Amino acid sequence: MDVSEIIIAGDTPGVVWRLPVFRFEGASAEAPRIYIQAALHANELPGTALLHFLLDRLRQADRDGAILGGITIVPQANPIGSAQAHFGELQGRFDLGSRTNFNRDFPLISLEDRDCLLEQPDLYSAADRLKRHLLHMALGADLVLDLHCDDEGLQYAYIDEAFWPDAADLAAALDMQAVLLSDGESSAFEEAVAHAWKHGREGERRTTLPGRLSVSVELRGTRDVYPELARKDAEGVFRFLVGRGIVAAPKAGLQAFAGKAVPLDNIEMIRAPEAGAILFHRDIGDNVKAGDLLATILARPGAPEGTIEIRAPQDGLVVTRVSTRFARRRSDLMKIACAEPSRAARKPGTLEA
Ligand SMILES: [Zn+2]
Repeated sequence: MDVSEIIIAGDTPGVVWRLPVFRFEGASAEAPRIYIQAALHANELPGTALLHFLLDRLRQADRDGAILGGITIVPQANPIGSAQAHFGELQGRFDLGSRTNFNRDFPLISLEDRDCLLEQPDLYSAADRLKRHLLHMALGADLVLDLHCDDEGLQYAYIDEAFWPDAADLAAALDMQAVLLSDGESSAFEEAVAHAWKHGREGERRTTLPGRLSVSVELRGTRDVYPELARKDAEGVFRFLVGRGIVAAPKAGLQAFAGKAVPLDNIEMIRAPEAGAILFHRDIGDNVKAGDLLATILARPGAPEGTIEIRAPQDGLVVTRVSTRFARRRSDLMKIACAEPSRAARKPGTLEA
C-alpha cells in the first residue's frame, strides 16, 4: 500500500491543504480499478468511518497478496470544508468563500481531457483545485463510489439509470433500502465522472457504460456514525470488491437487492407550506399510505386554528427526514419513494441544492 498526499495551496497566505490518498496496486491488469472517497460534504462522516475499517481489511488482503484491481481511497476528501467552523458549527456542504456546494460545479469534460484537469492550477481557487484533483483520480478508475449521507435517512444511493441494474450488487452488499435512479443531468461529482465516460471523446455520446459504475451512496444520516455500522458497511463494500474481482477471496453468497428502485420523478419532496415548529408523525423507514398524516406544523403556536397538517400525496416509503424541528416556508421535510411520478414539478438534475 502506498500513502501519499495531494498538496493544494490555500487562497490566502500561510494556508496549505493536505489530502491523504491510499493506493493499492492491483496484481491483475484485467481486474477493474476502483476509486472511493468519503466526506466530500465535510460534515458527512459515515463514509470516513467505513473507509477507516475498509482500509484495515484491505491492508490484510494486501499482505495476503489478494488485491487484483487497483484501489484508490480518500477517506476524508474535503479538508477545506472540514476547517469551516462557523459559530460553533461545522459548515461542510457549501464553500463559505464562494457559496458553492462542494458537490456541484465539477467540470463536465471528455475522458480524453482528463489530464487537462491538473494543468494551469493558478486559474483556480483552492476549492476548484480540490474538485479537479478528485475528479482526476476518479477518472483513472472503472468504478467510483462517492460516500455521502443524508440528514436523517435510510441506506440508499443515487444511481444514474445508465448503471442500473448493473449496480444491484452494490445495493445488495450495502443492504440498501432504496435506490433513486437519476437522470445524470447535474454537475455533482458522480455525474461529472459518468459524463466524462459517456463523452469519452469530443462528440461521442454513449448511453450505456458496461463495466463502469459511478454512484453517490447515502450512508443513512449524519449522526449514524458508529463502530458497528461502519464495520458492517466496510464488510459490505469488501464483499462488493470481491464480487467484482478486485479482491480475491471466497465469494460469500450475496443476497439479491430487495429494496425499491425508483426514478427521481417518483420522489415526493414533502415541503413545509408555512414556517413553524415541526411535529413529525412518521419516521424514516415507514411505509405510508396516501392521505396519512406525516407532520404537523405549528404555524401559529397557541392559536386554536394555528396548525397545518401535512399528508402523504401517495403511497410510498419514507427515505429521508430533516433533523431540524423548525421549518421555513417551502423548506424540505421528507423524501418519499413512490410507485407513481410525483405531480410536483421537478427540474432536471439533483433533488436538493
Ligand atoms: Zn453529501
